[in-house]
Amino acid sequence: MLAVTRTAALSGIEGISVKVEVDSGPGLPSFNVIGLGDTAVKEAADRVRSAIVNSGFEYPRGRVTVNLSPAWIHKKGSHYDLSMAVGVLAAQGRIGIKDTEGKAFVGELALGGQVRGVKGILPMISGLMGQINEIYLPEENCREAVLAAAGLGIRIAGVRNLAETVDMLTGKSPVRYRTERDVQLYGNEVQDLTGKKSDDSHIDFADVKGHWAAKEAIVTAVAGGHSLLMIGPPGTGKTMLARRIPTILPEMTPEEQLETSMIYSLIGRLSSQRPIIKERPFRQVSRRTSPAALLGGGYEPLPGEISLACNGILFMDEFLEADRAQIELLRKPMEEKKITIIRRSKPYTFPAKFTLAAAANPCRCGYLGDPDHQCTCSQTEIDRYRSKLSGPICERIDMCIEISRVNYKALTEAESADSAEMRKRVTAARDIQRERFKSLTFDTNAMMDEKHIEEFCSLGPKERKFMKKAYEKYSLSPRRYHKILKLARTAADLQECRDIEICHLATALNYTRFFGGEQT
Ligand SMILES: [Zn+2]
Repeated sequence: MLAVTRTAALSGIEGISVKVEVDSGPGLPSFNVIGLGDTAVKEAADRVRSAIVNSGFEYPRGRVTVNLSPAWIHKKGSHYDLSMAVGVLAAQGRIGIKDTEGKAFVGELALGGQVRGVKGILPMISGLMGQINEIYLPEENCREAVLAAAGLGIRIAGVRNLAETVDMLTGKSPVRYRTERDVQLYGNEVQDLTGKKSDDSHIDFADVKGHWAAKEAIVTAVAGGHSLLMIGPPGTGKTMLARRIPTILPEMTPEEQLETSMIYSLIGRLSSQRPIIKERPFRQVSRRTSPAALLGGGYEPLPGEISLACNGILFMDEFLEADRAQIELLRKPMEEKKITIIRRSKPYTFPAKFTLAAAANPCRCGYLGDPDHQCTCSQTEIDRYRSKLSGPICERIDMCIEISRVNYKALTEAESADSAEMRKRVTAARDIQRERFKSLTFDTNAMMDEKHIEEFCSLGPKERKFMKKAYEKYSLSPRRYHKILKLARTAADLQECRDIEICHLATALNYTRFFGGEQT
């Protein structure tokens, strides 16, 4: 007899509905899976057989054929087990054919019949949307699933083992539907795993004395979504500043929370204690981070750091010390806001909407311009090092600021802006931008292209004259000119000014002074 159940496959960040056809008939005892399964799917045969027998059901004596379709998707993982076992029992008449209609099944089976948790529940559920009404899945994935399914019209049923699943399907016991109210009983959120160090929970910009200009620049960068490079000698506080950026990031929208959570679901980083990512990630990488770890990779591609930083910050230290080739890796994802990895001639796409924050030394030895240390670099070395600033990746960086050692007076000053105050300004500027771009697909000034710049960054006669002068004096490249207008728009938004004024343009000019070879 032929039975049909449903489950889901993963392709990159995308979940795809998969039909599971199980045919059981006379013949030599065998269990064949067709339709591009990997080893884990083939091993499913043993797990499914043992789980069925150990749950007290009869296993077919003859031939069992399982077909997973569509066949063109490469199917990976052990989460197909439950759908196959239910299919086998339905093909034998143990479960009514009608009892599995409109339902999907996801879960790995232990040999004893227990249903174990799996990775990637969030994208699977969104892939099944519109095709099913109910999904049966492991208890430990319920919390993540309930939050994902909210508003999609899919009911979540939590199961602990195969026998219980069969009882629920045949009406012998009530289905254990999980709702948002149930999952609230699971307990409070635990400390998040999105890259913040555990001792980072109490940090605040108030700890950073002096550095007034750097803090103002960081507010501008975060407010407008601008990428930022900080240049300064070792020990001047670049990393200290960067680690505090998460404390002023605006709240995530529900769409952003879901998008970022999908990525963490794929690598199994969501749990019943932490079913959804609500805080913007902060991921730190270095020049020693491998291309696969940075971009994502593997035989079955998994997301890398640029995707784990999605809707948050990717921080790279020693930025200019890295190979040009390595820096170049970031260019395309920064442009496209996503990364596509090709495996076996198939594309796997992961979102990568991160804002880059980077830090670098001013020269190879690190001490150029440091009053307390002697720089040992030759002029040629300095020129070669600095030439990276005009490389293609720096076209993608909006702002570059200098961080210098804080003098004693500034260090001991009482007044120092704290994170709450800075975040309030960021949020106000973001609100203005959201209103401005409400009919468009983006919501920060950094995302404007030339057409938008023309529309939203128009200048008055005085301001135009100022920019004409600057254009000629510093021989601005068109790219730098556009960066200046975008940054000036953010500077104006931070002051709640409708029009861009000369002071905003001057600030923006200063933030871009290291780009394009010319300096102000
Ligand atoms: Zn040096």
